[in-house]
Amino acid sequence: MKITDVKTFLMQAGAPNLKSWAADGSFGTQSYSGNLTGTRNWLFVKVYTDQGITGIGECSGWPRVIETAVRDLRALLVGEDPTHIERLWQKMQIAIMGHGMTGTVGAGAMTGVDMALWDIKGKALGVPVWNLLGGKVRDRIHIYAHANTPEVALSLKERGITAIKCGGVSDPVRKVAGLRDAIGDEMDLMIDLHGPPWMTPGDAARLARALEPYDLMWIEDPIAPENLDGYRRIRDAAHVPLAAGERSSTIFGLRELIEHDLVDVAQPDTGRAGGITQMKKIAAMAEAHHIMMAPHSGSLGPVAEYAALHVMAAIPNALILERIEDDWDGRARTVIPHPQQVDGYLQVPDAPGLGVDIDEEFVAQFPSSQNLSVPIGKDTTSYAPGTFDEHVYVQTRLRRGRHFRPD
Ligand SMILES: [Mg+2]
Repeated sequence: MKITDVKTFLMQAGAPNLKSWAADGSFGTQSYSGNLTGTRNWLFVKVYTDQGITGIGECSGWPRVIETAVRDLRALLVGEDPTHIERLWQKMQIAIMGHGMTGTVGAGAMTGVDMALWDIKGKALGVPVWNLLGGKVRDRIHIYAHANTPEVALSLKERGITAIKCGGVSDPVRKVAGLRDAIGDEMDLMIDLHGPPWMTPGDAARLARALEPYDLMWIEDPIAPENLDGYRRIRDAAHVPLAAGERSSTIFGLRELIEHDLVDVAQPDTGRAGGITQMKKIAAMAEAHHIMMAPHSGSLGPVAEYAALHVMAAIPNALILERIEDDWDGRARTVIPHPQQVDGYLQVPDAPGLGVDIDEEFVAQFPSSQNLSVPIGKDTTSYAPGTFDEHVYVQTRLRRGRHFRPD
């Protein structure tokens, strides 16, 4: 079997300013001067073969830029046997090495291709991808959704969700206290601080200690992801599980977090970690350190979600998968079939390959125009000049009384 073509499908994936990425709908309809909202993009990659088998993949890490990278990689891939996945991964890696460290753009491009190659291999052999990865450890994957208010959390609970994550550095202890009070001990709760560069490790450690009584499943990205020494300080100071890794790619990008036991939960993004090939290796590295996997999926589309389901089905240390439960309506129409959450779980697909394809006609209806995201909400003016939110580097250093106390 030979690869005959590689094509990209880039789409504007809904408009977060009209329908929130977050479950609480707090991102309102305000417009931002410069029209930066509504710019989430999804990039799908299709690899074609001379035997009529096609594979589908997805890339995150700045999809609009990655589309060009994938088109460059096409020349390396046409004529190759798509079943030699590791060889092709190394070929791509070496070819982009001269651009500098791989980062999420290079790894995002390789991810889409790699995912499509696994899809082709599964279809060619008539088995699901999880079977190629060693077989199933589990039949369904535990998911969590997003909620910043007790009302949204309880609404999700009614729909079967058993774990929720809130986010942001604004009043974190009060937010967590309110949510824990509302949902009780039966639901799991996490907070994502989004790796704020303006949070000092000392403040993050103090915050982590203040959050200890709420028994979080994890605190995510408490400080900037580059500050690994800071992670050590937080870990030494507080007894709260830490999670990180969504902005890093490949075994090399997550190596230090795992090797130095800086986190309890690794969160590689299934669209930019380097593909199924790298996700499996990262999971194995994490396993050796008793670290669990909770793949990031904040801005990912539904094809990468399928890839995550296959990986999580096959690894022992799968904890939970992120999901925007109340996403843009078009998400379900972008792929066939679209997985439905039942009792807080997604079923592991059993069809050959990844078990999913995109609806190309639907995707074509949403051409990309921009690919940046600025959160817009009714309670924030998104870094507008003259506001509290303008001061992104000093935000948590002001109004300090709001950050560490529950009331
Ligand atoms: Mg996050």
